[in-house]
Amino acid sequence: MTAEGVAVLAIGDELLGGYTLERNSALIADELSALGLEVRELRVLRDNEEHIAEALVELARDHRFVFVTGGLGPTLDDVTRHAAARAAGVELELSQAALAEVREWWSGRDTEMPSANERQALLPTGAVRMTNSAGTAPGFRLALGAATLIVLPGPPREMSTMLQESVLPWLEREVPEADLQTRHFYLFGLGESDFAERVGAWMERDANPLIGVTASRGVLTVRMRAVGDEASSAEARLDRASLEFRERFSDHIFSESEATVEFALAKRLEASQVSITFAESCTGGLAAASLCRVPGVSSLFTDGFVTYSNDAKVRRLGVSPELLEAHGAVSEEVARAMAEGALLMSGARLGVSITGIAGPDGGTAEKPVGLVWFAVAVDGRTETLRRQFPKHSRDWIRDAAARTALHLAWTHVPSPSLEAK
Ligand code: ATP
Repeated sequence: MTAEGVAVLAIGDELLGGYTLERNSALIADELSALGLEVRELRVLRDNEEHIAEALVELARDHRFVFVTGGLGPTLDDVTRHAAARAAGVELELSQAALAEVREWWSGRDTEMPSANERQALLPTGAVRMTNSAGTAPGFRLALGAATLIVLPGPPREMSTMLQESVLPWLEREVPEADLQTRHFYLFGLGESDFAERVGAWMERDANPLIGVTASRGVLTVRMRAVGDEASSAEARLDRASLEFRERFSDHIFSESEATVEFALAKRLEASQVSITFAESCTGGLAAASLCRVPGVSSLFTDGFVTYSNDAKVRRLGVSPELLEAHGAVSEEVARAMAEGALLMSGARLGVSITGIAGPDGGTAEKPVGLVWFAVAVDGRTETLRRQFPKHSRDWIRDAAARTALHLAWTHVPSPSLEAK
């Protein structure tokens, strides 16, 4: 029986020393899943030739493809190619073609190649070289028993480039086409465990489609993956499941294509041709800065206001001093006045304000740390939102508040059809 699946062996002392986070396996797993290939084992090892060779032999026994990343540099502690040769029981040979490539990389930088880099042109006998267009170390493929070793450079950017340019096109030819489809949903305002509870059996191991979820900075990324069979194609399965999923999570899905709230907001603003402004207190411009991550947003976002002090709220947004005096800066009334003032001052159509207590000090029993008021003003209406964030760090609260404001804006962008009326 042929072994199935994929193993990844990440090599590097730094990956075990606690100062570099291992990222290559996730990048590889993500790309391979589209081909129906599953990473079933991950190992991380130090740069030790003997241990790497032993691991390669073991992994090649149990997997069809073994990806190895790292340890292809020019220094003596980069031993991956030696370990691969040892595992396969072959010699290392100087590849003239690989040497020419390494030399060319250096000449493109107007520097002569250090002699140590010659080592990077050594390849195990029988290996198929893979060009590295993003760095010096060539990668290679090598048969090891019934498995194929795929050896790639360590830096994630170089590894990804070689994966895209050389490995995936080759794998697509090697692996029979699977009827496999993936769809993404991006959700805001829902915790991971609440999600798991609501999504139920879809997260069970053998479900088809199978749902996977990851959480980062308030956004849940839900990946729905279906495999086709005699009963139904993958596409049809996904279509049916997506309808149900959208219905169940309509209050939280903000996009099926944009992974961040700011990109989804920019897309919606662009589609509706609605201009936006922000009046920010505790976030100090974070919401505006996030939106500015999106290229081409200048036609819909001209300016925002960082009004941290009461005086700035009065001077720049026209908030009345009496209102501030009566309710305090962190209040529904002031949030409302800030959003409306920002609209007046900027001429934008949609204005969002943020005023809160980011801590660690400044909280009271009535207004504790983490309390944030938001307001959104658009087309003559203003709505407010109160959020009590958990007592995290100041940065956490400011970040969460900025993202909540972006999401609030997203939910209030008038649709293009309303615009036409
Ligand atoms: P180089 O020629 O750059 O030395 P290499 O193939 O020898 O390439 P390594 O020396 O193993 O690669 O790693 C270079 C750097 O790449 C590491 O210091 C680390 O910052 C990063 N790196 C390597 N492997 C990984 C990994 N699995 N995940 C994240 N970063 C990695």
